[in-house]
Amino acid sequence: MALKDITGQDRAINILQGCIVRDRIPHAMLFAGDEGIGKRLTAVNFAKAINCQRTGSQEPGVVNNGLFEDTELRTPNSELQTLPDSCDSCPSCLKTDKSGHPDVFFIESEGDGDQITVSAIRGLEKSLAYKPFEGNYKIAIIDNAERMNPAASNAFLDTLEAPPDQSVLILVSSRPDMLLPTIRSRCRRINFTPLPLNVMGDLLREKFNKHDTGQPLLSGALSGGRPGYALREDLIAQRDRSFSALKHMSGGLDEEEGGDMEELLDWAQVWLRDLAVFKTTGRADLLINRDREGEIKALIRGTALEGILKLARELYNIRGNMRFNLNEKLTRNYIGLLIRKRLGRTDAGKQ
Ligand SMILES: [Zn+2]
Repeated sequence: MALKDITGQDRAINILQGCIVRDRIPHAMLFAGDEGIGKRLTAVNFAKAINCQRTGSQEPGVVNNGLFEDTELRTPNSELQTLPDSCDSCPSCLKTDKSGHPDVFFIESEGDGDQITVSAIRGLEKSLAYKPFEGNYKIAIIDNAERMNPAASNAFLDTLEAPPDQSVLILVSSRPDMLLPTIRSRCRRINFTPLPLNVMGDLLREKFNKHDTGQPLLSGALSGGRPGYALREDLIAQRDRSFSALKHMSGGLDEEEGGDMEELLDWAQVWLRDLAVFKTTGRADLLINRDREGEIKALIRGTALEGILKLARELYNIRGNMRFNLNEKLTRNYIGLLIRKRLGRTDAGKQ
């Protein structure tokens, strides 16, 4: 795979290829957007493109002043054919794909707290201090960058302030709002957007190699344009599980124990979106969960749009705080309380 093979992120990839063409690759970039829409995949393929032994730039010129020049660097679609990309087959490209390139570093969260630790960032700093061994650039891909704990964030800030020559730092995050503002402001931000439904449908049909359109289209819609999610096998089962929990809780019954809370909160947003859409428009064709129209209709009876929107905001905030190891039982009870308060009906609980 190369940059040209990534589906649905033309704008982001255009900007990146524009940076290569102009030899103005920012020292630090922030790839921001929902989970599962191709940010990390793009980071890996960008690393391949700039270090490729066949197509990579011969004279690297990382510059800092590429920051905030989004408009200037954007390249028209018509230039896509000639834009730089990796060959996807030279030793450098193959090693990067297998996470075995000596100049490409992957930093991920680890341990009990699922955090990126200061020792990981210090280790990275040391690795970046040397000149590249084989490639043109040293590239660090920091996945789920918002999981840097405070000490790691501060250490990383030092690296950002005095970036080593020929190095490119790529922060990948679905919650860029949780990064330190001082980190965000030092990174060139590249936004990734969810894929349109028809593009998702095509992509999923290709992957599932199915001729019927129903299942891939439903998965595509359910995943909110995020291929990484849609390709999970148990997507529809997850959806059903979360919906039954939500209905349960809104009816004044406690949710059964177990079930992943982050999963529930992610799905709650999809459901609340449908509730809000149906409440406002009454149009079933605009629903993501089109096959559950009847239940959605029943669930919004007696609820106010304001309550649905408030609940969406409250659950979104709780989801954002999940990384702080909230007490699971208390949080679960609190979520139940909020759902009942915002969606609960006076006659609920006896259906
Ligand atoms: Zn190559």
